[in-house]
Amino acid sequence: MRLIERTFNGAKGFDMRRREPEDRRDQLLHAALATLSETGIEAFTLAAVARRADVSPALIVHYFQDRDSLVEAVFRMLVERVTTRPLRALEADAAPEARLRAFVLEHLNPGELSSEASRAWLSFWGLALHVPALARLQRVHQERMISNLKHVLRSLVQPHEVNRLAETIGALIDGFWLRTALSSGWKAEAQIPVDWIFDLIDREIAHARLPAGARATRAVDTSFKTINPATGEALATIRIDGQAEIDKAVAKAAAAQRDWARTTGAERGRILNRAAQLLVEQNERLARLETQDTGKPIQETIAVDVLSGADCIEYFAGLARTIAGEHHDLGPGAFGYTRREPLGVVAGIGAWNYPIQIACWKSAPALACGNAMIFKPAELTPLTAIELERIYRDAGLPDGLFQVVQGKAETGQMLSRHPGIAKISLTGEVGTGKKVMADAAATLKLVTLELGGKSALIVFEDANLDEAVSGALLANFYSAGEVCTNGTRVFVHRSIRDAFLAKLKARTEAMIIGDPLDPKTQMGALISQDHMQRVLHYIELGKQQGATLLTGGQRFMTGACAHGAFVAPTIFTDCTDDMAIVREEIFGPVMSVLTFDDEDEVVARSNATDLGLAAGIFTQDLTRAHRVIAALEAGTCWINTYNITPIELPFGGNKQSGLGRENGTAAIAFFTQLKSVYVAMERIDAPY
Ligand code: NAD
Repeated sequence: MRLIERTFNGAKGFDMRRREPEDRRDQLLHAALATLSETGIEAFTLAAVARRADVSPALIVHYFQDRDSLVEAVFRMLVERVTTRPLRALEADAAPEARLRAFVLEHLNPGELSSEASRAWLSFWGLALHVPALARLQRVHQERMISNLKHVLRSLVQPHEVNRLAETIGALIDGFWLRTALSSGWKAEAQIPVDWIFDLIDREIAHARLPAGARATRAVDTSFKTINPATGEALATIRIDGQAEIDKAVAKAAAAQRDWARTTGAERGRILNRAAQLLVEQNERLARLETQDTGKPIQETIAVDVLSGADCIEYFAGLARTIAGEHHDLGPGAFGYTRREPLGVVAGIGAWNYPIQIACWKSAPALACGNAMIFKPAELTPLTAIELERIYRDAGLPDGLFQVVQGKAETGQMLSRHPGIAKISLTGEVGTGKKVMADAAATLKLVTLELGGKSALIVFEDANLDEAVSGALLANFYSAGEVCTNGTRVFVHRSIRDAFLAKLKARTEAMIIGDPLDPKTQMGALISQDHMQRVLHYIELGKQQGATLLTGGQRFMTGACAHGAFVAPTIFTDCTDDMAIVREEIFGPVMSVLTFDDEDEVVARSNATDLGLAAGIFTQDLTRAHRVIAALEAGTCWINTYNITPIELPFGGNKQSGLGRENGTAAIAFFTQLKSVYVAMERIDAPY
């Protein structure tokens, strides 16, 4: 028996007519959906549909008999449309949690919610109260959803909790749909209830979870495979660390850290310098491994990923001996001083886009300041952190001071919640940052959060056009667009728009996409097939919401790319500030070009987002450059370039793009704590 049923067979109408010429029928159904969404059910007539489809009403009658049958057929189409992707998510070969999340996420898919479907859906709910055929259709749809939810929940929670949770999640999905439809479609604020729904599901499942032994165990629960996204080839199987391993790692780190904290900065610096040297010597091999694990072109990983990590370790090796407190003169009878002390055991949790660089950016300041670090790389890119652990050991770092643990969100959560860990430094999505902060709150851990962005790149009318085009290309297509600081909202002054677009299009179309290991390749694969689907989905949204596709816009499957997660570099023009592609982080090679007329306007539009990671401007006007940069709400800014992040400059986000800073001397403050000491030099003047 199939556990997941796909269609709604047996009723009159849709399935019987599948034998009719499909194209024509689909065309009429889409015209009917558009009419229904525009006019509402009251004014919905066969004649209105015929007018929109530019056919005679007789043709509609030929296909659908009468208005009621047409309405029913539209709703069958809608039901199929909104259930196809969730069902696919449930059938995926993944852990039950992941399938449940994907199922819910697909039901809350902004593409459907922002479309005409949501308005037509409203009519459907209203009509189902009075039309028995539609009531039945609605009931079947809801029962199917609940039954699919129960199916996946059975392998996650205790039997007596299955029904309650399935009904709750079903009600949340329906409620969210209804609310979104009533408020005329998806808006960015809708992400807040979506995040909340996921938090609730996580919490409920945590309470109702099956005891470990009773859980349906799949290989993915104890290990996972890391895949080369350019080829689909499995590179390694990685064991997932659970609570016991984390506890062991924390205990070992704490023991090692006590001695490490007593070493001088100079001693720590010498070991870090050796590690930096080893990274440089092994650059080629490590870059190759990084390319295989991430899909990024070797011309990037060999020039940037490993070497920028080494640069960071070398920088903090130098700073280690400068870490110091302050002396305060408090008059002849006293003085005070501060000690800058390590925090203890800290944890780093990495994202998948710059795996070894992130591991270095977190571990180097942590170790230089006298801490021990437990590092969890992203599950999609677990390999180079293991190499970094070995390199630190070879450089002479005492055992336990840098340990790599592996796993997914649950392993990360064990770190955020662990009472023996003093601080979490996370690089990841905004939603993950909120969860980590909430988990860290239980033990009042410090957090540094390097999160997502939707940054603006502004090209003024006096900009050097070729340079600005170079900047826009680097800001969108480097690492296939998987860079947190990317300037994906490219604001171009109206007077230079056409010239800018002509150059941009020509240079984008000349980019070499291909095998990431080929040194000529300029753009490689995205991190995974799933992520590619997400990026393609945004591209569809861009088209649906009225942006003009200048180039790209589809999966890239030529030659060596046939089976990999490649997407052609994509540029949309005629974008408006409210489009999903302009508001939400896509994290792929998708650029949105917008036009502006004056400085105040572009600053206000650039700042009109909850995120504030980065921003860039191109202009020859020195005064304007600094004035605009001062007005932009972003943590990292560039003038006449983009995406350069030297280790000397603090790096991090404003607003919801993050908390705290990495790099620069600023990072020292985030891996140490101050102790203030008052020293009395005279007798105590006690009044008692
Ligand atoms: P993600 O948030 O899905 O995962 C990041 C890490 O957090 C992974 O190791 C993951 O296993 C872990 N994790 C997930 N849920 C967790 C939880 N509840 N508790 C603890 N750990 C958890 O992000 P991603 O998909 O790996 O990376 C892409 C995101 O990272 C993008 O949003 C990008 O903008 C952001 N990013 C930011 C920076 C920056 O410096 N600001 C740099 C790179 C990437």
